Amino acid sequence: MTSIDTDIKPFDVAAIRRQFPVLERKVKGKNLVYFDNAATAQKPQVVIDALVRYYHQYNANIHRGIHSLAEEATAAFEATRDTVKEFINAGHREEIIFTRGVTEGINLVAATYGRQNIKEGDEIIISGMEHHSNIVPWQILCLEKKAVLKVIPVDDNGELVMSEFEELITPQTKIVSIVHASNSLGTINPVKDIIDIAHQHNIVVLVDGAQSSVHLNIDVQEMDCDFFVISSHKVYGPTGVGVLYGKKELLEEMPPYMGGGEMIKEVTFDKTTYNELPYKFEAGTPNIADTVAFKAALDFVTEVGKENIRKHEEALTKYAMEQLSGIDGVRLIGTAKHKTSVVSFIVDGVHPQDMGILLDNYGIAVRTGHHCCQPLMNRFEIPGTIRASFAMYNTKEEVDELVKGVAKAIGMLK
Ligand code: PMP
Repeated sequence: MTSIDTDIKPFDVAAIRRQFPVLERKVKGKNLVYFDNAATAQKPQVVIDALVRYYHQYNANIHRGIHSLAEEATAAFEATRDTVKEFINAGHREEIIFTRGVTEGINLVAATYGRQNIKEGDEIIISGMEHHSNIVPWQILCLEKKAVLKVIPVDDNGELVMSEFEELITPQTKIVSIVHASNSLGTINPVKDIIDIAHQHNIVVLVDGAQSSVHLNIDVQEMDCDFFVISSHKVYGPTGVGVLYGKKELLEEMPPYMGGGEMIKEVTFDKTTYNELPYKFEAGTPNIADTVAFKAALDFVTEVGKENIRKHEEALTKYAMEQLSGIDGVRLIGTAKHKTSVVSFIVDGVHPQDMGILLDNYGIAVRTGHHCCQPLMNRFEIPGTIRASFAMYNTKEEVDELVKGVAKAIGMLK
Protein backbone atom coordinates (compact mmCIF):
# COMPACT_ATOMS: atom_id res chain seq x y z
CA MET A 1 0.00 0.00 0.00
CA THR A 2 1.13 3.54 -0.71
CA SER A 3 0.93 5.34 2.56
CA ILE A 4 -0.45 8.83 2.80
CA ASP A 5 2.44 11.21 2.29
CA THR A 6 1.44 13.82 4.81
CA ASP A 7 1.14 14.23 8.48
CA ILE A 8 -2.51 13.40 9.04
CA LYS A 9 -3.21 13.74 12.71
CA PRO A 10 -6.66 13.41 14.16
CA PHE A 11 -8.15 15.54 12.79
CA ASP A 12 -6.14 17.71 10.44
CA VAL A 13 -8.71 18.65 7.86
CA ALA A 14 -6.22 20.77 5.90
CA ALA A 15 -3.94 17.74 5.50
CA ILE A 16 -6.91 15.63 4.47
CA ARG A 17 -7.97 18.21 1.90
CA ARG A 18 -4.53 18.14 0.29
CA GLN A 19 -5.16 14.49 -0.55
CA PHE A 20 -8.13 15.37 -2.78
CA PRO A 21 -6.94 17.19 -5.92
CA VAL A 22 -10.43 18.13 -7.11
CA LEU A 23 -10.95 20.31 -4.04
CA GLU A 24 -8.47 22.78 -5.50
CA ARG A 25 -10.65 23.62 -8.46
CA LYS A 26 -12.87 26.60 -8.94
CA VAL A 27 -16.52 26.49 -9.97
CA LYS A 28 -17.99 29.62 -11.55
CA GLY A 29 -14.93 31.46 -10.31
CA LYS A 30 -15.47 30.41 -6.68
CA ASN A 31 -13.70 27.83 -4.53
CA LEU A 32 -15.54 24.54 -4.91
CA VAL A 33 -17.62 23.58 -1.88
CA TYR A 34 -18.51 19.96 -2.48
CA PHE A 35 -21.54 18.92 -0.45
CA ASP A 36 -22.83 16.12 -2.68
CA ASN A 37 -20.98 13.35 -0.93
CA ALA A 38 -24.01 11.14 -0.40
CA ALA A 39 -24.26 10.92 -4.20
CA THR A 40 -20.58 10.19 -4.63
CA ALA A 41 -17.47 11.07 -2.65
CA GLN A 42 -14.37 12.67 -4.17
CA LYS A 43 -11.27 10.52 -4.66
CA PRO A 44 -7.99 10.89 -2.80
CA GLN A 45 -4.70 10.93 -4.69
CA VAL A 46 -3.86 7.39 -3.49
CA VAL A 47 -6.92 6.06 -5.32
CA ILE A 48 -6.08 7.95 -8.51
CA ASP A 49 -2.47 6.71 -8.25
CA ALA A 50 -3.60 3.11 -7.81
CA LEU A 51 -5.72 3.36 -10.95
CA VAL A 52 -2.92 4.90 -12.99
CA ARG A 53 -0.36 2.42 -11.64
CA TYR A 54 -2.56 -0.50 -12.67
CA TYR A 55 -2.84 0.73 -16.26
CA HIS A 56 0.80 1.83 -16.43
CA GLN A 57 2.33 -1.29 -15.00
CA TYR A 58 0.26 -4.44 -14.84
CA ASN A 59 -2.96 -4.27 -16.84
CA ALA A 60 -3.93 -7.88 -17.58
CA ASN A 61 -6.94 -10.12 -17.36
CA ILE A 62 -7.12 -11.98 -14.10
CA HIS A 63 -7.35 -15.51 -12.70
CA ARG A 64 -6.55 -17.57 -15.80
CA GLY A 65 -3.29 -16.04 -16.98
CA ILE A 66 0.03 -17.61 -16.08
CA HIS A 67 2.21 -14.68 -17.18
CA SER A 68 3.61 -12.19 -14.68
CA LEU A 69 1.25 -9.33 -15.43
CA ALA A 70 -1.79 -11.58 -15.02
CA GLU A 71 -0.43 -12.84 -11.74
CA GLU A 72 0.18 -9.30 -10.47
CA ALA A 73 -3.27 -8.12 -11.55
CA THR A 74 -4.90 -11.17 -9.95
CA ALA A 75 -3.01 -10.63 -6.70
CA ALA A 76 -4.03 -6.96 -6.57
CA PHE A 77 -7.66 -7.77 -7.37
CA GLU A 78 -7.83 -10.48 -4.73
CA ALA A 79 -6.05 -8.26 -2.21
CA THR A 80 -9.05 -5.92 -2.40
CA ARG A 81 -11.28 -8.83 -1.46
CA ASP A 82 -9.18 -9.40 1.67
CA THR A 83 -9.31 -5.71 2.55
CA VAL A 84 -13.09 -5.62 2.14
CA LYS A 85 -13.35 -8.71 4.34
CA GLU A 86 -11.46 -6.86 7.08
CA PHE A 87 -13.32 -3.60 6.50
CA ILE A 88 -16.69 -5.22 7.25
CA ASN A 89 -15.34 -8.05 9.41
CA ALA A 90 -16.75 -10.86 7.27
CA GLY A 91 -15.94 -14.36 8.43
CA HIS A 92 -14.74 -15.67 5.05
CA ARG A 93 -13.19 -14.06 1.97
CA GLU A 94 -15.48 -16.05 -0.34
CA GLU A 95 -18.42 -14.18 1.19
CA ILE A 96 -17.21 -11.05 -0.61
CA ILE A 97 -18.70 -10.85 -4.11
CA PHE A 98 -17.65 -8.00 -6.38
CA THR A 99 -20.48 -6.23 -8.17
CA ARG A 100 -20.94 -2.90 -9.94
CA GLY A 101 -22.42 -1.40 -6.79
CA VAL A 102 -25.32 -1.49 -4.39
CA THR A 103 -27.91 -1.53 -7.17
CA GLU A 104 -26.40 -4.63 -8.72
CA GLY A 105 -25.98 -6.29 -5.32
CA ILE A 106 -29.68 -5.92 -4.46
CA ASN A 107 -30.76 -7.02 -7.94
CA LEU A 108 -28.48 -10.05 -7.63
CA VAL A 109 -30.08 -11.13 -4.35
CA ALA A 110 -33.63 -10.50 -5.61
CA ALA A 111 -32.99 -12.40 -8.83
CA THR A 112 -31.23 -15.39 -7.25
CA TYR A 113 -32.15 -15.85 -3.59
CA GLY A 114 -35.50 -14.17 -4.23
CA ARG A 115 -36.46 -16.22 -7.29
CA GLN A 116 -35.40 -19.40 -5.57
CA ASN A 117 -37.21 -18.81 -2.29
CA ILE A 118 -40.20 -16.54 -2.86
CA LYS A 119 -43.47 -18.08 -3.94
CA GLU A 120 -47.02 -16.87 -4.43
CA GLY A 121 -48.43 -15.16 -1.34
CA ASP A 122 -45.04 -14.65 0.32
CA GLU A 123 -44.20 -11.25 1.73
CA ILE A 124 -41.17 -8.98 1.55
CA ILE A 125 -40.76 -6.06 3.93
CA ILE A 126 -38.89 -2.87 3.09
CA SER A 127 -39.17 0.59 4.62
CA GLY A 128 -40.68 3.89 3.61
CA MET A 129 -37.25 5.51 3.29
CA GLU A 130 -35.71 3.15 0.74
CA HIS A 131 -33.76 4.24 -2.30
CA HIS A 132 -35.43 3.14 -5.53
CA SER A 133 -32.77 0.47 -5.90
CA ASN A 134 -34.09 -1.18 -2.75
CA ILE A 135 -37.69 -0.94 -3.95
CA VAL A 136 -37.83 -1.75 -7.65
CA PRO A 137 -35.94 -5.10 -7.63
CA TRP A 138 -38.38 -6.37 -4.99
CA GLN A 139 -41.37 -5.06 -6.94
CA ILE A 140 -40.14 -6.92 -10.02
CA LEU A 141 -39.79 -10.09 -7.94
CA CYS A 142 -43.22 -9.63 -6.34
CA LEU A 143 -44.85 -9.15 -9.75
CA GLU A 144 -43.20 -12.28 -11.09
CA LYS A 145 -44.03 -14.42 -8.07
CA LYS A 146 -47.35 -12.85 -7.06
CA ALA A 147 -45.77 -11.96 -3.74
CA VAL A 148 -46.60 -8.94 -1.57
CA LEU A 149 -44.39 -5.95 -0.76
CA LYS A 150 -44.98 -4.38 2.66
CA VAL A 151 -43.56 -1.13 3.96
CA ILE A 152 -42.47 -0.02 7.45
CA PRO A 153 -43.79 3.54 7.88
CA VAL A 154 -41.64 6.59 8.62
CA ASP A 155 -42.57 9.14 11.29
CA ASP A 156 -42.34 12.93 11.10
CA ASN A 157 -38.72 12.97 12.28
CA GLY A 158 -37.75 10.53 9.56
CA GLU A 159 -37.43 7.52 11.85
CA LEU A 160 -38.91 4.09 11.27
CA VAL A 161 -42.04 3.28 13.25
CA MET A 162 -40.56 0.16 14.78
CA SER A 163 -43.76 -0.95 16.55
CA GLU A 164 -45.35 -1.28 13.11
CA PHE A 165 -42.51 -3.45 11.88
CA GLU A 166 -43.47 -6.32 14.15
CA GLU A 167 -47.11 -5.91 13.11
CA LEU A 168 -46.15 -6.39 9.48
CA ILE A 169 -44.49 -9.74 10.07
CA THR A 170 -46.58 -12.83 9.26
CA PRO A 171 -45.68 -16.48 8.63
CA GLN A 172 -45.48 -15.52 4.92
CA THR A 173 -42.70 -12.95 5.47
CA LYS A 174 -39.51 -14.27 3.87
CA ILE A 175 -37.22 -11.28 3.31
CA VAL A 176 -36.62 -7.92 4.98
CA SER A 177 -34.53 -5.46 2.98
CA ILE A 178 -33.67 -2.30 4.80
CA VAL A 179 -31.45 0.73 4.39
CA HIS A 180 -28.85 1.14 7.14
CA ALA A 181 -28.61 4.92 6.73
CA SER A 182 -31.00 6.96 4.62
CA ASN A 183 -29.45 8.87 1.73
CA SER A 184 -32.24 11.48 1.81
CA LEU A 185 -32.52 12.12 5.53
CA GLY A 186 -29.41 10.65 7.10
CA THR A 187 -31.44 8.54 9.56
CA ILE A 188 -29.47 5.61 10.94
CA ASN A 189 -31.86 2.72 11.32
CA PRO A 190 -31.76 0.19 14.18
CA VAL A 191 -30.71 -2.61 11.85
CA LYS A 192 -29.49 -4.85 14.65
CA ASP A 193 -32.95 -4.81 16.27
CA ILE A 194 -34.59 -5.39 12.89
CA ILE A 195 -32.30 -8.35 12.19
CA ASP A 196 -32.85 -9.87 15.64
CA ILE A 197 -36.62 -9.64 15.29
CA ALA A 198 -36.55 -10.96 11.71
CA HIS A 199 -34.35 -13.90 12.65
CA GLN A 200 -36.77 -14.92 15.40
CA HIS A 201 -39.18 -15.51 12.51
CA ASN A 202 -36.58 -17.14 10.22
CA ILE A 203 -36.63 -14.15 7.90
CA VAL A 204 -33.55 -13.31 5.86
CA VAL A 205 -32.32 -9.70 6.06
CA LEU A 206 -30.49 -7.62 3.47
CA VAL A 207 -28.94 -4.36 4.67
CA ASP A 208 -28.33 -1.58 2.15
CA GLY A 209 -24.99 -0.17 3.30
CA ALA A 210 -24.65 2.43 0.53
CA GLN A 211 -24.58 5.29 3.01
CA SER A 212 -23.46 3.58 6.19
CA SER A 213 -20.27 1.86 5.04
CA VAL A 214 -18.44 5.18 4.72
CA HIS A 215 -19.55 6.61 8.08
CA LEU A 216 -20.12 3.74 10.50
CA ASN A 217 -18.03 0.83 11.66
CA ILE A 218 -19.45 -2.19 9.92
CA ASP A 219 -19.20 -5.61 11.49
CA VAL A 220 -21.39 -7.96 9.51
CA GLN A 221 -20.83 -10.83 11.92
CA GLU A 222 -21.92 -8.82 14.92
CA MET A 223 -24.82 -7.29 12.96
CA ASP A 224 -25.68 -10.82 11.82
CA CYS A 225 -27.18 -9.54 8.55
CA ASP A 226 -27.60 -12.15 5.84
CA PHE A 227 -26.63 -9.80 3.03
CA PHE A 228 -24.88 -6.41 3.06
CA VAL A 229 -24.24 -4.24 0.01
CA ILE A 230 -21.70 -1.46 -0.61
CA SER A 231 -20.76 0.89 -3.45
CA SER A 232 -17.08 1.78 -3.68
CA HIS A 233 -17.73 5.27 -5.02
CA LYS A 234 -19.45 6.33 -1.80
CA VAL A 235 -16.38 5.24 0.21
CA TYR A 236 -13.91 7.47 -1.70
CA GLY A 237 -13.26 4.68 -4.21
CA PRO A 238 -13.85 4.49 -7.96
CA THR A 239 -17.26 4.17 -9.60
CA GLY A 240 -18.37 0.88 -11.10
CA VAL A 241 -17.37 -1.39 -8.21
CA GLY A 242 -19.32 -2.65 -5.27
CA VAL A 243 -19.59 -5.51 -2.87
CA LEU A 244 -22.25 -7.98 -2.00
CA TYR A 245 -21.51 -9.68 1.29
CA GLY A 246 -23.60 -12.78 1.89
CA LYS A 247 -23.47 -15.53 4.48
CA LYS A 248 -21.62 -18.44 2.95
CA GLU A 249 -24.35 -20.97 3.61
CA LEU A 250 -26.88 -18.78 1.76
CA LEU A 251 -24.57 -17.94 -1.15
CA GLU A 252 -23.75 -21.60 -1.62
CA GLU A 253 -27.40 -22.51 -2.07
CA MET A 254 -28.16 -19.63 -4.42
CA PRO A 255 -28.15 -20.12 -8.20
CA PRO A 256 -25.77 -17.94 -10.24
CA TYR A 257 -26.87 -14.49 -11.38
CA MET A 258 -25.19 -14.18 -14.76
CA GLY A 259 -23.74 -16.94 -16.89
CA GLY A 260 -20.43 -16.64 -18.71
CA GLY A 261 -16.72 -16.92 -18.22
CA GLU A 262 -15.18 -17.21 -14.77
CA MET A 263 -18.33 -18.48 -13.04
CA ILE A 264 -18.06 -22.01 -14.44
CA LYS A 265 -16.23 -25.15 -13.42
CA GLU A 266 -16.97 -27.12 -16.58
CA VAL A 267 -19.08 -26.44 -19.65
CA THR A 268 -20.43 -28.96 -22.12
CA PHE A 269 -23.39 -28.45 -24.43
CA ASP A 270 -25.38 -30.77 -22.18
CA LYS A 271 -24.55 -29.27 -18.83
CA THR A 272 -22.54 -26.64 -16.97
CA THR A 273 -21.22 -26.94 -13.46
CA TYR A 274 -20.57 -23.76 -11.56
CA ASN A 275 -17.43 -22.41 -9.97
CA GLU A 276 -17.04 -22.15 -6.24
CA LEU A 277 -17.65 -18.99 -4.23
CA PRO A 278 -17.09 -16.14 -4.79
CA TYR A 279 -16.47 -16.71 -8.52
CA LYS A 280 -19.89 -18.32 -9.07
CA PHE A 281 -21.29 -14.78 -8.90
CA GLU A 282 -18.54 -13.00 -10.83
CA ALA A 283 -19.24 -13.82 -14.47
CA GLY A 284 -17.11 -12.17 -17.15
CA THR A 285 -14.08 -9.92 -16.91
CA PRO A 286 -14.65 -7.80 -13.83
CA ASN A 287 -13.87 -4.14 -13.35
CA ILE A 288 -10.26 -4.94 -12.47
CA ALA A 289 -8.69 -1.48 -12.33
CA ASP A 290 -11.40 0.06 -10.20
CA THR A 291 -11.52 -2.93 -7.88
CA VAL A 292 -7.75 -2.69 -7.38
CA ALA A 293 -8.04 1.03 -6.61
CA PHE A 294 -10.95 0.42 -4.24
CA LYS A 295 -8.42 -1.14 -1.85
CA ALA A 296 -6.53 2.15 -1.74
CA ALA A 297 -9.75 3.93 -0.76
CA LEU A 298 -10.52 1.50 2.06
CA ASP A 299 -6.95 1.66 3.34
CA PHE A 300 -7.15 5.44 3.24
CA VAL A 301 -10.37 5.53 5.29
CA THR A 302 -8.93 3.06 7.78
CA GLU A 303 -5.73 5.07 8.09
CA VAL A 304 -7.58 8.33 8.73
CA GLY A 305 -9.84 6.42 11.10
CA LYS A 306 -13.61 6.04 10.88
CA GLU A 307 -14.07 7.32 14.42
CA ASN A 308 -12.12 10.49 13.62
CA ILE A 309 -14.09 10.99 10.44
CA ARG A 310 -17.37 10.41 12.18
CA LYS A 311 -16.67 12.90 14.95
CA HIS A 312 -15.66 15.53 12.42
CA GLU A 313 -18.73 14.93 10.26
CA GLU A 314 -21.05 14.87 13.27
CA ALA A 315 -19.82 18.29 14.35
CA LEU A 316 -20.37 19.67 10.84
CA THR A 317 -23.85 18.17 10.67
CA LYS A 318 -24.89 19.58 14.02
CA TYR A 319 -23.51 22.99 13.12
CA ALA A 320 -25.19 23.00 9.69
CA MET A 321 -28.55 21.97 11.15
CA GLU A 322 -28.37 24.71 13.78
CA GLN A 323 -27.35 27.39 11.32
CA LEU A 324 -29.77 26.45 8.55
CA SER A 325 -32.76 26.10 10.86
CA GLY A 326 -32.06 29.66 12.04
CA ILE A 327 -32.85 31.02 8.57
CA ASP A 328 -36.40 32.23 8.15
CA GLY A 329 -38.43 29.88 5.94
CA VAL A 330 -36.04 26.92 6.15
CA ARG A 331 -37.49 23.61 7.31
CA LEU A 332 -35.27 20.65 8.04
CA ILE A 333 -36.53 17.31 6.74
CA GLY A 334 -35.10 14.43 8.75
CA THR A 335 -34.38 15.17 12.37
CA ALA A 336 -33.77 11.65 13.63
CA LYS A 337 -31.77 11.19 16.82
CA HIS A 338 -29.13 9.09 15.07
CA LYS A 339 -28.00 10.51 11.77
CA THR A 340 -25.16 10.38 9.30
CA SER A 341 -23.86 13.63 7.84
CA VAL A 342 -26.86 14.44 5.67
CA VAL A 343 -28.80 17.68 6.05
CA SER A 344 -31.96 17.85 3.97
CA PHE A 345 -34.13 20.93 3.95
CA ILE A 346 -36.78 22.84 2.08
CA VAL A 347 -37.45 26.55 1.88
CA ASP A 348 -40.97 27.96 1.94
CA GLY A 349 -41.98 29.16 -1.49
CA VAL A 350 -38.69 28.15 -3.14
CA HIS A 351 -38.31 25.18 -5.48
CA PRO A 352 -35.33 23.03 -4.45
CA GLN A 353 -33.97 23.10 -7.99
CA ASP A 354 -33.89 26.91 -8.10
CA MET A 355 -31.96 26.90 -4.84
CA GLY A 356 -29.54 24.31 -6.24
CA ILE A 357 -28.86 26.40 -9.34
CA LEU A 358 -28.16 29.54 -7.32
CA LEU A 359 -25.90 27.67 -4.91
CA ASP A 360 -23.96 26.29 -7.86
CA ASN A 361 -23.37 29.88 -8.95
CA TYR A 362 -21.64 30.37 -5.60
CA GLY A 363 -19.52 27.25 -6.20
CA ILE A 364 -21.54 25.11 -3.80
CA ALA A 365 -22.52 21.64 -4.99
CA VAL A 366 -25.63 20.29 -3.29
CA ARG A 367 -28.14 17.76 -4.50
CA THR A 368 -31.76 18.74 -5.07
CA GLY A 369 -34.81 16.65 -5.88
CA HIS A 370 -36.20 13.34 -4.69
CA HIS A 371 -32.81 11.64 -4.20
CA CYS A 372 -34.21 8.43 -5.76
CA CYS A 373 -36.66 8.22 -2.85
CA GLN A 374 -39.95 9.33 -4.42
CA PRO A 375 -42.16 7.40 -1.96
CA LEU A 376 -40.36 9.10 0.95
CA MET A 377 -40.89 12.53 -0.61
CA ASN A 378 -44.59 11.65 -1.04
CA ARG A 379 -44.70 10.72 2.65
CA PHE A 380 -43.53 14.24 3.52
CA GLU A 381 -45.75 15.71 0.78
CA ILE A 382 -42.87 17.55 -0.84
CA PRO A 383 -41.45 17.35 -4.35
CA GLY A 384 -37.93 17.03 -3.06
CA THR A 385 -35.35 18.58 -0.77
CA ILE A 386 -32.07 20.42 -0.94
CA ARG A 387 -29.46 18.06 0.48
CA ALA A 388 -26.03 18.91 1.79
CA SER A 389 -24.00 15.85 2.74
CA PHE A 390 -20.60 16.06 4.37
CA ALA A 391 -17.39 14.11 4.02
CA MET A 392 -14.09 13.99 5.89
CA TYR A 393 -12.68 16.92 3.85
CA ASN A 394 -15.48 19.40 4.49
CA THR A 395 -15.03 22.31 6.86
CA LYS A 396 -17.00 24.58 9.13
CA GLU A 397 -16.07 27.51 6.84
CA GLU A 398 -17.70 25.68 3.95
CA VAL A 399 -20.87 25.24 6.01
CA ASP A 400 -20.77 29.00 6.62
CA GLU A 401 -20.57 29.49 2.84
CA LEU A 402 -23.64 27.30 2.42
CA VAL A 403 -25.61 29.16 5.07
CA LYS A 404 -24.68 32.50 3.54
CA GLY A 405 -25.54 31.17 0.08
CA VAL A 406 -28.95 29.89 1.16
CA ALA A 407 -29.81 33.20 2.84
CA LYS A 408 -28.69 35.15 -0.23
CA ALA A 409 -30.60 32.85 -2.60
CA ILE A 410 -33.78 33.21 -0.55
CA GLY A 411 -33.43 36.98 -0.85
CA MET A 412 -33.24 36.66 -4.62
CA LEU A 413 -35.94 34.02 -5.10
CA LYS A 414 -38.65 35.43 -2.87
N1 PMP B 1 -29.12 2.86 -1.67
C1 PMP B 1 -28.79 4.04 -1.12
C2 PMP B 1 -29.22 4.32 0.28
C3 PMP B 1 -28.06 4.96 -1.85
O1 PMP B 1 -27.74 6.14 -1.30
C4 PMP B 1 -27.68 4.66 -3.18
C5 PMP B 1 -26.92 5.67 -4.01
N2 PMP B 1 -27.46 6.95 -3.99
C6 PMP B 1 -28.03 3.42 -3.70
C7 PMP B 1 -28.75 2.55 -2.92
C8 PMP B 1 -27.62 3.01 -5.08
O2 PMP B 1 -26.23 2.93 -5.15
P1 PMP B 1 -25.48 2.80 -6.55
O3 PMP B 1 -26.09 3.83 -7.45
O4 PMP B 1 -24.06 3.05 -6.23
O5 PMP B 1 -25.75 1.41 -7.05
